[in-house]
Amino acid sequence: MTQEKTRIKVGISTCLLGQKVRFDGGHKHDRYITDILGEYFEFIPVCPEVAVGMGTPREAVRLQGDVEVPRMVGVRSGKDWTDPMNDYSRKRVKLFRIQPVSGYILKKDSPSCGMERVRVYSTTGMPARNGRGLYAMELIKQYPLLPIEEEGRLNDVKLRENFIVRVFAYDRLQNLFNDSYKRGDLVKFHTVHKYLLLAHSPECYKQLGKLVADIKKHAPAEMRDRYSELFITALTYKTTTRKNVNVLQHILGFLKKHLTDFEKRDILRVIEDYHKEMVPLIVPLTLLRHYLEKYEVAYIRDQVYLNPHPKELMLRNHV
Ligand code: SF4
Repeated sequence: MTQEKTRIKVGISTCLLGQKVRFDGGHKHDRYITDILGEYFEFIPVCPEVAVGMGTPREAVRLQGDVEVPRMVGVRSGKDWTDPMNDYSRKRVKLFRIQPVSGYILKKDSPSCGMERVRVYSTTGMPARNGRGLYAMELIKQYPLLPIEEEGRLNDVKLRENFIVRVFAYDRLQNLFNDSYKRGDLVKFHTVHKYLLLAHSPECYKQLGKLVADIKKHAPAEMRDRYSELFITALTYKTTTRKNVNVLQHILGFLKKHLTDFEKRDILRVIEDYHKEMVPLIVPLTLLRHYLEKYEVAYIRDQVYLNPHPKELMLRNHV
């Protein structure tokens, strides 16, 4: 069911695709990424260490010195790769402005690609796990709103769901703000995202509501920047059972006048089961979707919250 034309472009550390680019001539193929996410994402691979000419296989490198501005050196030779790596990273990452991606998956622990808790060695040779790879540092600096995750963290179902929601949302946001957008397009975009935002951050949801209500007071470019920042920030907050229950009850509110007493009791019971974590989110959602279809409640039926990513990913079967 691969849809070449519609797959979302996502940057990735090359070794995660199974390509033998690691210092030891091996790879770190992640089957979930290639076999499952690969159905929906078109991966743009980058291996910064090969790109700067380190070769494969090669001497391993590590970070040392100041955690904010570490040096990258060969483990045995001490050869300093910091400047070539920083120069390459600046230039390669800048290219994403003309070939945009909507997300990025990085290899954990790498002195080039690691996003967090990368070892940085002190002058005494003691490592602290509080650094970030040089390439990852530049990526995050240039694209602070881009959804970025490490492959290791994608094993956590909540982090995985959150990342994938953000990638799809970021992609829609980029499509909205492509060349010229109209105020009406943004209002429509915001309307269908309301419950998704509420499920992630009620506070940002309120702020975005005010911003959109005042849309005429802002120039389009200012509106784009302010809306994008707050929208992506909202989605970085993880959903919780409590926040989802709140949204489910809001949706139920729109259905109430259509439902029979039996149907109402049925839905309330399933929401309660979800609240007690006896069933996953997909259960009350499926039931609500059924009644929204049955009674043709268009406003809610179009909410992205009901389908923020393809159901085949089964992300809501576990949260
Ligand atoms: S972690 Fe990054 S630098 Fe290391 S092999 Fe993988 S892609 Fe290359």
